[in-house]
Amino acid sequence: MPPETTASTSASDEDAVLAAVPRRLYIGGEWRDGGGGATFAVDDPSTGEPIAHVADATSGDALDALGAAHETFASWRNSAPRERGDILRRAYDMIVARTDALALLMTLEMGKALAESKAEVTYAANFLRWYSEEAVRIDGRYSANESGAGRVLTMKQPVGPCVFITPWNFPLAMGTRKIAPALAAGCTIVAKPARLTPLSILMLARILEQAGLPGGVLNVITATSSGSVMEPVICDPRTRKLSFTGSTEVGRSLMAQASEQVLRVSMELGGNAPFLVFGDADLDAALDGAMIAKMRNIGEACTAANRFYVAAGVANDFAQQLAARMSALKIGRGTEPDVDVGPLIDADQLDKVAELVEDAVSKGATVLTGGERVEGPGHFYKPTVLTEIPDDARLLREEIFGPVAPVKAFATEQEAIAAANDTELGLVAYLYTSDLQRAWRVTERLETGMVGLNQGMVSNAGAPFGGVKHSGVGREGGPEGIEEYVEIKYIAMNV
Ligand code: NAP
Repeated sequence: MPPETTASTSASDEDAVLAAVPRRLYIGGEWRDGGGGATFAVDDPSTGEPIAHVADATSGDALDALGAAHETFASWRNSAPRERGDILRRAYDMIVARTDALALLMTLEMGKALAESKAEVTYAANFLRWYSEEAVRIDGRYSANESGAGRVLTMKQPVGPCVFITPWNFPLAMGTRKIAPALAAGCTIVAKPARLTPLSILMLARILEQAGLPGGVLNVITATSSGSVMEPVICDPRTRKLSFTGSTEVGRSLMAQASEQVLRVSMELGGNAPFLVFGDADLDAALDGAMIAKMRNIGEACTAANRFYVAAGVANDFAQQLAARMSALKIGRGTEPDVDVGPLIDADQLDKVAELVEDAVSKGATVLTGGERVEGPGHFYKPTVLTEIPDDARLLREEIFGPVAPVKAFATEQEAIAAANDTELGLVAYLYTSDLQRAWRVTERLETGMVGLNQGMVSNAGAPFGGVKHSGVGREGGPEGIEEYVEIKYIAMNV
C-alpha cells in the first residue's frame, strides 16, 4: 500500500479542484453541451452526494466526435513523431506538477484514499512519458527473401480513428494506458470514460489541450446510455479500432459489435487472480504482497487477488496474520488523514460484495475478520478474511471487487496449480516461493497473461499488461502497447 497521508483536505480545496474540471463534451477541439442539453450527476461514493454535473451525450454527439477524429486523422498521422512525443512529454510534466489536485479529484469521484490516488496519478502519467519516448521509435524491417531475388520490407502505420471505453476503478490510468500509445502512433481518438468517474478523463483532455494537442485528435464523450450512444460509433466504417477496459460480459458484447466493421480490438477484461503461497515462502513477504494484491484500490482492481491458496502447513498462520493486518486498516472517506480503505463505488457494488460473503458463509465458510458492511452514508465494507471456503462458494468463481480475502489450504503443488487455473479468466496470478525451480515450474503452468513472482503488484507502464482466456485480447504498456495502434504494411520489392 502507498504511504499514508497525514493532512486532511478542506472543503475549499475540494471546491477548487472541482471548479477546474470542464463539464462539457470535448469534440473537434471545442467544449460543448450535449445535443439533447441533458446533464448527469457524478456522486462522491463516500457520501452518495453529487459533486458535479456533466454533459450527457447523445449518439449524434458521439458520431460528431468520430467525425472530428476521422477528419483530423489525415493531418495527425503525418505529424512529426517528435512533435507527438513532445506533446505527450509536456502533458506528463503538467500532470506531475498537478499530482495533488488530480489525486484529490480522483478520490472525490472514485473514493480511494488520497495516497492511492496519488499512486494512480503517477502510474497514469508514466504512460505519457513512456510513449513520449516511443513515438520516435516506430520502425519497420528489411530482409532478403528466401530466394534472394527480392526484398521484404515492412512499415508501420497508424491504425486510424480509435474508440476507447474505460471503467471507473482506475479513472485516469485506464485512459492514459490507451490514449498515450495511440497518440504516439498517430491515431485519433473518441474516448468514453465511465459514467461514475468521468472527471479525471475530462481533466486529462484539458491538460492535453493545454500541452498543445491539436483539436479533434482526442475527443471525449460522457454519457449515461453507453450502449445506445457508442454502438453507432463502433459500427461506423470510419472507426478502425476498439479498445475496451471493463467487465468480460460487456467486452464480449462489444467484440460482437466490433465484428461488424472487422475492427482491430484490444480487450482488458475481468480477472479472478489466484494468490499461491507455498510452504517454502517467506511468510512475511507473502503477507506484504497479499495486502497489496488484495487491498490496492479497495480490492476494486482487475488484478486483485481473488482467491488465496496456501500450503496446508502454513495456511492457518497465514490467514490469522492476514486477518490481523486487515482488521488494523482504517476505513473512511478517502480525503481523511491516514485512511487506508475508502468506500466501494456504489450501492450495487456494496450489495454484490455482501452477497458473495453471505453466500460463502451460508455454505460453511468461517469469518476471521470483517464480514459486514459499515453503516452509511457511503458504501463501506469491512476488510474481510474468510477460511474453510467450500468449493461451491461463488466468490471462488466470480470477481469479488471488494476488500474480501478467501483463504483455502492446499496439499500439493499439482492441486494448487489446478485450483489456480480452474477459472475461465486468466489475467494475473501471484506466486510466493523461495524455491527457484518451483517458481519457474509453476509460472510456466499458470494460465494467465501475467505473474507476480514474489511480488503483489505487476502494473508498470513499461510492461505488457493483459490477460488470456476470458480476461482479454492484446496488451497495454511497454513496447508491446504501441503495436496495438499500428498496422504492418509489407512491401514485396523486386530487385
Ligand atoms: P463495465 O460495466 O464493463 O463498464 C466499463 C465501461 O463500459 C464503462 O465506461 C461503461 O459505461 C461501458 N459500458 C457498459 N456497457 C456498455 C455497452 N453496452 N456499450 C458500450 N459501453 C458500455 O465495467 P466496470 O464495472 O466499469 O469495471 C469493472 C470491470 O472492469 C471489472 O470486471 C474489472 O476486472 C474490469 N477491469 C479490467 C481491467 C484490465 O486491464 N483487464 C482493468 C480495470 C478494470 P457506464 O459507466 O455508462 O456503464
